[in-house]
Amino acid sequence: MQLVFATNNHNKLKEVQALMPQHIKLLSLQDIGCFEDIPETQQTIEGNAIQKAEYIKKNYGYDCFADDTGLEVEALNGAPGVYSARYAGKQRNANDNMDKLLNQLNSKSNRNAQFKTVIALQLNGKPHTFTGICEGEITTEKRGTEGFGYDSIFQPKGHTKTFAEMGLELKNSIGHRGKAVTQLIAFLNKI
Ligand code: IMP
Repeated sequence: MQLVFATNNHNKLKEVQALMPQHIKLLSLQDIGCFEDIPETQQTIEGNAIQKAEYIKKNYGYDCFADDTGLEVEALNGAPGVYSARYAGKQRNANDNMDKLLNQLNSKSNRNAQFKTVIALQLNGKPHTFTGICEGEITTEKRGTEGFGYDSIFQPKGHTKTFAEMGLELKNSIGHRGKAVTQLIAFLNKI
C-alpha cells in the first residue's frame, strides 16, 4: 500500500517511514510531483491538517496524511496556536518567534503551555484525525541547541530539560508528534 505524507521535510518523512508497518510505503510530495505551496488557511490546527490532506487527495488523487502543529500558551489564551510558524512575522524565523513569546510572557507567572499535533488521514474516501499533546511550560530563557522551532524554550512536564537539551529519541518518545504518529500507525496496522 502506498500513502502520501504531505510534507516537504525529509527528516519528518524518514522518521515516520521508519515507524510504519512494512506493507505501507510512504511517498513524499516530491515523489508525486507536487512542488506547490499547499494552502493552510484555516483557523485551527485540525482545520489546516484536514485541508492539506484533502487538497492532495482532490488535486493529485492519492490517499494521504498531513500534519499540523501549534504551541498553545495558557496565559495567552492559546496563542500562538495555529499561527505558531509565523508568530513574529512572515519570515517564519524560529528565534524571532521565541523572542516574541518570551517577551509576551515577561510579566506572567503562569507559564503553562502545550504542543499539539494533529495528523489528518484521507483513506478510501474517508477522513480520520489523530491528536498528540505534550504538556509543559515555557522557560524564562532559551536552553539547548538541538531540535527546531520552539524547542529551546519548551520544558515538558516531569522533565528538567527543554526539548532542545534532551535529544531526539527522548523528545520523540514523550512528544506531541510521536504520540499522534503512534495513533496513526495503530490505526493503519488494523486495516
Ligand atoms: P508545523 O505544523 O510542523 O509546520 O509547525 C508549525 C510551527 O510550530 C513550526 O514553524 C515550528 O516553529 C513549531 N513546531 C512544530 N513542531 C515543533 C516541535 O516539535 N518543537 C518545536 N517547535 C515546533
